[in-house]
Amino acid sequence: MTKQYDLISIGAGSGGISAAERAAEYGKKCLVIESNIVGGTCVNVGCVPKKVMWNAANLAHALTDARDYGFDVSNNGLSWAKLIEQRQGYISGITNWYGNYLSDSNIDYIEGKARFVDAKTLEVNGEQFTAEHIVVAPGGYPMVPELPGAELGMTSDGFFALQEQPKHIAIVGSGYIAVELAGLMSSLGSQVTLLIRKGHVLANFDPILSDTLATVLQEDSNIVLLSTTEVELVEKQDSGQLTLHCTKNQQVNHVDALVWAIGRTPNTADLNLEAAGVAMDAQGFIPSDEFEQTNVSGIYSVGDVNRKAALTPVAIAAARRLSDRLFNNMPDRKLDYSNIPTVVFSHPPIATIGLTEKQAHDAYGTSVKIYSTSFTPMSHAFTQHKAPIAMKLVCVGAQEKIIGCHIIGPGVDEMMQGFAVAIKMGATKADFDNTIAIHPCSAEELVTMR
Ligand code: FAD
Ligand code: NDP
Repeated sequence: MTKQYDLISIGAGSGGISAAERAAEYGKKCLVIESNIVGGTCVNVGCVPKKVMWNAANLAHALTDARDYGFDVSNNGLSWAKLIEQRQGYISGITNWYGNYLSDSNIDYIEGKARFVDAKTLEVNGEQFTAEHIVVAPGGYPMVPELPGAELGMTSDGFFALQEQPKHIAIVGSGYIAVELAGLMSSLGSQVTLLIRKGHVLANFDPILSDTLATVLQEDSNIVLLSTTEVELVEKQDSGQLTLHCTKNQQVNHVDALVWAIGRTPNTADLNLEAAGVAMDAQGFIPSDEFEQTNVSGIYSVGDVNRKAALTPVAIAAARRLSDRLFNNMPDRKLDYSNIPTVVFSHPPIATIGLTEKQAHDAYGTSVKIYSTSFTPMSHAFTQHKAPIAMKLVCVGAQEKIIGCHIIGPGVDEMMQGFAVAIKMGATKADFDNTIAIHPCSAEELVTMR
């Protein structure tokens, strides 16, 4: 017998759970279908395990800095096994909590792969389920390039399954994941080779961020940065280590682990979207309009699958607003995708919101005014290990409305959220300047820049 729901979410990740959770709060009957583990990418193989590793890497830096502050401490090595055990224990706690939370919220949950039968019906494990509203939130999976020996490498999923710390890790890519893994593995003591196919890391970010990070990566004695380099062939040696044969006759030898971090593909191939008439783009993403509506009435695409901004809080916010609109009589409720703050957990971290300098000039021409500064934070004034801070405000018009804020340096990951509120509210440079600085801290430069 076909079971009927008000809303079905495909995927128990950030987007799918949030849509069902909010709909259930309005008394709607909801089902979440998950083919893998509740929590999705963020909890299991994304933000959460990454942030635990990043925290560990920060502690490694703190141990080094502590010596320069007079502490008699030494870093006698990391127990990778202990770190992984603690990390996975923490993740299990979250996924167990989710399981209980869904049942406590009267949301039905089934494990299995959903596929469309028609625009209102899904099939899972041979059973059929119908709903007026179907939220497609299947996320994506990491890409692997097509080249000989590529299967000898792993993706970020494989990285989080590593049971031993690789002495030498090669990372291919120049985006979020590549620079995050490079920074944290170097800090944890691995030798890192970072291979980027173009001249820049984080090409879409403001240059004050990408250039500063590139300099830090180049100066890091644990990191070899090979730019304008592409891997052509991967070979396994008798020792079990890998050799990467690259363009320009370059070879990277004695690689214990190779990670492809070159972007992600949406999980749409097995959904049988054709049966529902749902349109995809050439890469398999499902476009949706400002209300997350696909080309088919009653079917929505939320989260990474709609290609708008692949970030957990975006998936959550879009999904919640969608359920508000559908079930709480809020016909205009939708996510405003402008001014989304984001942090890259590199070493040091990057925080950014709004337009880059170039985007601002393209949009507003000569009415753009830039303020920028760079300095060594006080915490690193006399330590051997240095981490720079660089900041840029992008302003426009006579009011100098702030339309971009780009910061890199220790602590900026926790600095941006509050500034993002101000910028989202339309703050001007004068508003920043009218705010009394908090001294002494790095953030005060954002309200004292001239
Ligand atoms: P997902 O979380 O991927 O959930 C989709 C779920 O759908 C999956 O569990 C999948 O198994 C399931 N599924 C797929 N197909 C089917 C099907 N046919 N039937 C049933 N279930 C199906 N974002 C941040 O904001 N901050 C970070 O620090 C951050 N770090 C990241 C680090 C890494 C290494 C990665 C890979 C991503 C990171 N992200 C981060 C991005 C973030 O994880 C994603 O944007 C977010 O998880 C997207 O949520 P989603 O609901 O769209 O998809
Ligand atoms: P990204 O899209 O961030 O970066 C991938 C980059 O790899 C591309 O931009 C491209 O840069 C390069 N690339 C693409 N193909 C190849 C290739 N064949 N060989 C070498 N390099 C290649 O993808 P990620 O996988 O790093 O992350 C996916 C998304 O997940 C992110 O965009 C982000 O939205 C999210 N995420 C968020 C995090 C956070 O919030 N802190 C952390 C991690 C992920 P180029 O064209 O310059 O070569």
